Amino acid sequence: DGVTYMEVRRPRRVMILVNPHSGRGQALQLFTAHIEGMLTEAAVPYSLIITEHQNHARELVRKADLSQWDALVIMSGDGLLFEVINGLMEREDWQEAIQTPLGILPGGSGNALAASVHHYSQSPPAWNEELLLSCGFMLCKGLVGSLDLVSIHLSSQQRLFSFLSLAWGFVADVDIESEKYRHVGAIRFLMGTLVRLYSLKVYQGKLAYLAVKETPKPQKGTITASHPPSTPQHPSLCSSLPCQLIPTSPNQNHHRNHSTTNSNPITSVITTKGTETQGDAKTKTLVDSLLPGLDQPVPESWTVVKEEDFVLVLAIYQSHLAEDLWTAPGAMADDGFIHLFYVTAGISRPALLRLFLAMEKGSHLACGCPHLVYKKVKALRLEPISPQGVISVDGEMVEYGPVQAQIHPGLARLIYG
Ligand code: ADP
Ligand code: MG
Repeated sequence: DGVTYMEVRRPRRVMILVNPHSGRGQALQLFTAHIEGMLTEAAVPYSLIITEHQNHARELVRKADLSQWDALVIMSGDGLLFEVINGLMEREDWQEAIQTPLGILPGGSGNALAASVHHYSQSPPAWNEELLLSCGFMLCKGLVGSLDLVSIHLSSQQRLFSFLSLAWGFVADVDIESEKYRHVGAIRFLMGTLVRLYSLKVYQGKLAYLAVKETPKPQKGTITASHPPSTPQHPSLCSSLPCQLIPTSPNQNHHRNHSTTNSNPITSVITTKGTETQGDAKTKTLVDSLLPGLDQPVPESWTVVKEEDFVLVLAIYQSHLAEDLWTAPGAMADDGFIHLFYVTAGISRPALLRLFLAMEKGSHLACGCPHLVYKKVKALRLEPISPQGVISVDGEMVEYGPVQAQIHPGLARLIYG
C-alpha cells in the first residue's frame, strides 16, 4: 500500500550509457520508446550519454565524479558493461568506485546479464522488448544486490575484470564470428552456432582448476542458488547509500552480511568477502591470492584435467550465456562460484547441437553426454597449445594465450530483483 512505497526514496541521479551501434543499432530508439516514460513516471532522474566510440564509456567512468551518481546503467549489450566495470577498476579509488550500483538494460545482441537478472527475479522467460521492460522495472525499483567479479590475467600481464564469461574454443569462436551478424539481434548466436558446427574444430590446450570443496551450508535468510527467496532481500539503491560513506581500510577482510532480518541500512551493507588488498590507502591493489604467476606451475590443491583435446572451455558466472541459453542453471549473481564447463573432443555434431538446444531449457546437464563436464571452481588456468585462436571475456575478444582467473565474491553491486 501507499505507506510502503512512500518510504522508498528515489535515487539522486542515474547515468545511463547507450551504445547506439549495439544490437540492431536501435538501442536509443528502444530507450525512447520503452524506458524514458517509465523512468519519468517513477521519478527516477537520469542523464543519458550516448557513446561515440569503443572505450568511450570506459574512459568516462574512469574519470567521472562518482559522488554525482547513484548508479551507472548501460543500455547496450554485455560489451558496454565490460567497459564500465574495467573503467571503474582502473581508478585509484576502485575500492569505492566498484561499489557504485550498476544496472543493465538490454539493447544489444548479446544480452546475457539482462537475461540472467530477469531469471534471478523468478519471472518466466522473456525476450526482446519484454526483457527490456522487465529490466526497466527493476531499475525503477532500485533494489541492489552484490555481483561477483572474476579477475582475469592474460599472458601480457594485463588484468581484466569480468562479470559474465571466459570462453575458448567453440563458444569463443561463435562469440566473435557472430559479431558480423549483430544486426539480426540475439539470433546471431544460433546462426553462429550452426556455422561453427559445420566446421567443427578440436582445440588443444591444458586446463586446470581449483574446485570448490563443498557447498557452503545456507544460513538463515541466505539467498541460495537453488531456492532464491520470492522477495528480493537486498537493500534498495537508496537505503544502501550509506555504505559508500563507510571508509574501507586496506588489509581488512570484509564479510558480507546476508542477514535479511535487520533492516538497518548500515548493517545490511554488502561488502566484499574475502577480498584482499595490499598497500596503503593510495596504492591499494586487489590481490588474486589464489593465483600463482602464469609462469609458475599450478598449486597442488588444483585439479589438472587429463584431456588436452577440447571442443570448448567455458567459465560462466551468471545463469545465462545469451537470452535463450540458460547455461549455468544454479548460478546466481553472487554465489561466489565460477561455473566451469568443458566439452572434450570426440563429441559428434548432433550431440553438440543437442546440448545447445537443451540449454534453452537449462537441461543440457541431464543429456547424459559423456563429453560434457561441469565443475564449480574458484579459479582456473587455461594454456592453449593450438598456436592461433580466440579467447573471449564477456563476449569481447582478448589477447590469445595462457590465461588464468579467480573469483572475487560480491566485489561489485548490481541493480536487480
Ligand atoms: P552487442 O551485444 O550488440 O555486441 P555491445 O554492448 O557488446 O553490443 O557492444 C559491442 C561493442 O561496441 C563493444 O565492444 C563496445 O565496447 C563497443 N562500443 C561501445 N560504444 C560504441 C560506439 N559508440 N561505437 C562503436 N562501438 C562501440
Ligand atoms: Mg557484445
